[in-house]
Amino acid sequence: MACIVQKFGGSSVASAEHIKNVADRISNRVSQGDSIVVVVSAMGDTTDDLNRLALSMSQDPNPREMDVLLSTGETITSTLLSMALNDLGVDAISLSGAQAGIITDDVFGRARISEIKTDRIDFELEKGRVVIVAGFQGISSDFDVTTFGRGGSDTTAVALAAAVDASQCEIYTDVAGVYTADPRICSSARPLQEIGYEEMLEMASTGARVMHARAVEIGELYDVPILVLSSFNEDADGTLIHREITMEQGNKVRGVAHQDKVAKVTVRGVPDQPGIAVHLFGPLAAANVSVDTIVQNASVEKLTDMTFTIAPEDLTAALKVVNEVKLSLGAMEIISEIDLGTVSIIGTGMASAPGFAALMFKTLYENNINIEMISTSDIRITCVVKADKVHDAVNALHSTFELDVVPE
Ligand code: ASP
Ligand code: MG
Repeated sequence: MACIVQKFGGSSVASAEHIKNVADRISNRVSQGDSIVVVVSAMGDTTDDLNRLALSMSQDPNPREMDVLLSTGETITSTLLSMALNDLGVDAISLSGAQAGIITDDVFGRARISEIKTDRIDFELEKGRVVIVAGFQGISSDFDVTTFGRGGSDTTAVALAAAVDASQCEIYTDVAGVYTADPRICSSARPLQEIGYEEMLEMASTGARVMHARAVEIGELYDVPILVLSSFNEDADGTLIHREITMEQGNKVRGVAHQDKVAKVTVRGVPDQPGIAVHLFGPLAAANVSVDTIVQNASVEKLTDMTFTIAPEDLTAALKVVNEVKLSLGAMEIISEIDLGTVSIIGTGMASAPGFAALMFKTLYENNINIEMISTSDIRITCVVKADKVHDAVNALHSTFELDVVPE
């Protein structure tokens, strides 16, 4: 039995009218004989609204309660969509993450899926029902509701696609696919026909907001083809994220990603001796602060500086940890900065060809953009720049690497 997973993001289910349109779309698909698992996000800005509501109750809301609260957003959508489908004569049932058998660890707010028990979903599919699963949530082994972090419904969708062995996972969103750069700031950006998992992962983790990075990771691991489509423009082909890249190979930079805001922390004057990095980054990891770029300076007179970047919302937590270990590290001083952003060029073609870094740096230099830090992977080069230069940098790099030109 061909089974597909379709995920509809917050903008696709923003109102009752939107939800009815989604129901129509699903109903058409059902009449073609497909067996469908649907994953939904919370309606429009519901998650933001729920966050605000919580903050109006408490400066520091209890994480367990927070997850129960946030999970209700997607639950609402799942029930409404089920009602709409049933009205169209399509047999459908909504399930919360817990009911769908999505088991996670117990890290509230950024839980990871440990297992999916598909018995209930299988049972409902057998009955010929459309199964609608509330995205972005699961249940811990202690039966507490957990959520996956912002954008986490993508992760629900791809993980379910892997678990039920779906032929494809379709992600419906408000843009026509994965773009060469963010079209909101780069007018010549165009949707890609296809992109590899690795490239997409680098794009997602360095700022392309179209997909949750962990969803792409799971897609790669289980080889789930992911089609990113516009829910508003039925004619657009969308972007296929998959293993085999056949087209567009000639264009060696696949995309330019950016982050508008990152924070930087420098631990100055630490003795250059074994164990410094582990005593700094170990406690940060224990506090669930995820660190991006790390630079350790070459030491001068046996003293070195350690600099790393983090998401701005993690700065308070990071500074708390760093101040706690400052004494034992023997560090002189801790400096932080928040008005920074990043720009990255990404493409598997870069792995084997030199010269991309030089061309990137030349472009930034010619546009009078100072590079604060640099980090690279096999297929990515990221520069940390001042936040107010990020958009200029994206546009300049997009044209240098000819991403506006559609490859033959
Ligand atoms: N509703 C959650 C959010 O807004 C999860 C999602 O939409 O994927 O981040
Ligand atoms: Mg999303």
